[in-house]
Amino acid sequence: MAPSPPETAQPVFRFAPSPNGRLHLGHALSALTNERFARRMGGRLLLRIEDIDRERCTPALEAALRDDLAWLGVAFAPQVRRQSEHFADYAVALADLGRQELLYPCFCSRQQVRLAVAAESARSSRAWPVDPDGAPLYPGACRGLDRAESAARVAAGEPHVLRLDMARALKRAGGSLAYAVLDPAGVARTVPVAPARWGDVVLARKDVPTSYHLSVVTDDARQGVTHVVRGRDLEAATDVHVLLQRLLGLPTPLYHFHELLLDEDGRKLAKSRNSESLADLRVQGATAAAIRERLGFPPLG
Ligand SMILES: [Zn+2]
Repeated sequence: MAPSPPETAQPVFRFAPSPNGRLHLGHALSALTNERFARRMGGRLLLRIEDIDRERCTPALEAALRDDLAWLGVAFAPQVRRQSEHFADYAVALADLGRQELLYPCFCSRQQVRLAVAAESARSSRAWPVDPDGAPLYPGACRGLDRAESAARVAAGEPHVLRLDMARALKRAGGSLAYAVLDPAGVARTVPVAPARWGDVVLARKDVPTSYHLSVVTDDARQGVTHVVRGRDLEAATDVHVLLQRLLGLPTPLYHFHELLLDEDGRKLAKSRNSESLADLRVQGATAAAIRERLGFPPLG
């Protein structure tokens, strides 16, 4: 079993949006679900700004999202963690995995990966396996590169990403990887994980020297998060997070996955599809109480 946070400690929750667009109803649902759990369990709710993507995340969008959350009436603990201020922490985690010889540089472009996948599927006349998000698993061309040669290419400044060697990582982690998931009533059950279905995941890029997986695992531990409440779209990624927690010697929080809000076409709401933002709804005259009610949460007070 993964190490669990002590039962007596005050529960710590977090809501962790990215300031790369305006918040929509799906974010409101996630923030309110966190707030409800925290209130019921006497916990604290932290705000984390996930802004490692320095191209798409802007201070103006961060200010806007904090304004939206204040308008909605979600109260957070005063200290806010901004991921872009903690690249040093991610470097420490990466170096730890590097010392364990679980990382390797991958020089493949997206195009090269696509071609390798096509060649492999043609050769084996079978569909190449895909990860839970539907992306083809990395075929592994760079996994077996000579270490000295790889190091020389990295030193020469060749663009690359750092991948986790999944097979080695699983061997190192030593089996029985699991976490506890809470149902809406807060009752826990244990779920085994299967991180291998993600293949050799990317943990750092040259332009962004971390990744979603590495930074959330690092942040949850550094912030003392005991309960991770997030959408069902991130359920499968938890497999990778539990593996990284084991490899880095970090505690595994409890998890709860809330259902996702769907648009009229049955697709998950997304900033990229211009789902109606909370700001749009405000302009149209919606009140925070009406939004809370629409999402199934009692009014404030
Ligand atoms: Zn490669």
